Amino acid sequence: MAEYLASIFGTEKDKVNCSFYFKIGACRHGDRCSRLHNKPTFSQTIALLNIYRNPQNSSQSADGLRCAVSDVEMQEHYDEFFEEVFTEMEEKYGEVEEMNVCDNLGDHLVGNVYVKFRREEDAEKAVKDLNNRWFNGQPIHAELSPVTDFREACCRQYEMGECTRGGFCNFMHLKPISRELRRELYGRRRKKHRSRSRSRERRSRSRDRGRGGGGGGGGGGGGGASFSG
Ligand SMILES: [Zn+2]
Ligand SMILES: [Zn+2]
Repeated sequence: MAEYLASIFGTEKDKVNCSFYFKIGACRHGDRCSRLHNKPTFSQTIALLNIYRNPQNSSQSADGLRCAVSDVEMQEHYDEFFEEVFTEMEEKYGEVEEMNVCDNLGDHLVGNVYVKFRREEDAEKAVKDLNNRWFNGQPIHAELSPVTDFREACCRQYEMGECTRGGFCNFMHLKPISRELRRELYGRRRKKHRSRSRSRERRSRSRDRGRGGGGGGGGGGGGGASFSG
């Protein structure tokens, strides 16, 4: 019996533990879920909830027409956001093994960023610190996440371009970064000396300026996202 229970833990057959929370770290029922959400006390992974704002979603006007945000601008905006968060995590808290951003639209998944650190201590430190910080003028909500295997959390149909549930799918739709950025972020750790890219220097300068302005960060214009606090 115990063996049977262990084999169904966190699957759809498990009537006690919520399979969505277990695999994806988020469930559309939230605190009202009839099954248990076992919040981890230790994890390598943290979730930053609702932190990425897709300009294509927020620029939708009342009559449902999309304002012009081209796919190219969209990708640039996304890459910039990804690099900003990734470098902040590594510089402040420790080595990042993997980072993923959800492109889902449901309230419990929209804009969620999952950062998997190499060490659990770094994840713990990051959660404590980030909950006292701001991003783009909004308070950050960070928590330890049960997700360790992103293959389990992802929607396979989405990866093949065939998810019929669209943005409201309850599995992660992970938004890919450009190949160049992937090479820069994940490839550079093989080098002994990290070369600071020009774009990073530019951004850290604008970040200092934003901080000088006091208050909620976001130095206006430029479209750059930034941490503060
Ligand atoms: Zn649940
Ligand atoms: Zn899907």
